[in-house]
Amino acid sequence: MSDCIFCKIINGDLPSAKVFENEDILAFLDISQITKGHTLVIPKVHIEDLFGMDEETAAKLFSVVPEIAKAIKEEFGAKGMNLLNNNGSFAGQEVFHYHMHLIPRYGQNDGFS
Ligand code: 5GP
Ligand code: ZN
Repeated sequence: MSDCIFCKIINGDLPSAKVFENEDILAFLDISQITKGHTLVIPKVHIEDLFGMDEETAAKLFSVVPEIAKAIKEEFGAKGMNLLNNNGSFAGQEVFHYHMHLIPRYGQNDGFS
């Protein structure tokens, strides 16, 4: 999708701080960090949301989430992590290329509740 910012990040037309990459999946730091190490995990194919997600892409994406989560936890010294996924504008989705938020947690006053 030519006007999708996450497709532009995948193509290298927009910069990003990459956390993980393989043939199918990219993870990069969110530009607006809810907590330190806040990361987005996306498929390289343009899928709008969970409702448009096929089983194969879902399997590829979720198979690398634990590995990415562990790497972030270690790198940033997080004590826990929330996974969040907004699907559709009514659920607060703002970028319509599927993404899983990985939000590291550090304590009660870490900025996310
Ligand atoms: P949503 O509300 O759709 O679940 O979340 C979209 C997320 O994308 C937001 O947390 C926002 O900060 C992040 N975001 C939007 N534009 C960019 C960008 O150009 N680069 C990066 N790294 N993150 C972005
Ligand atoms: Zn896209």
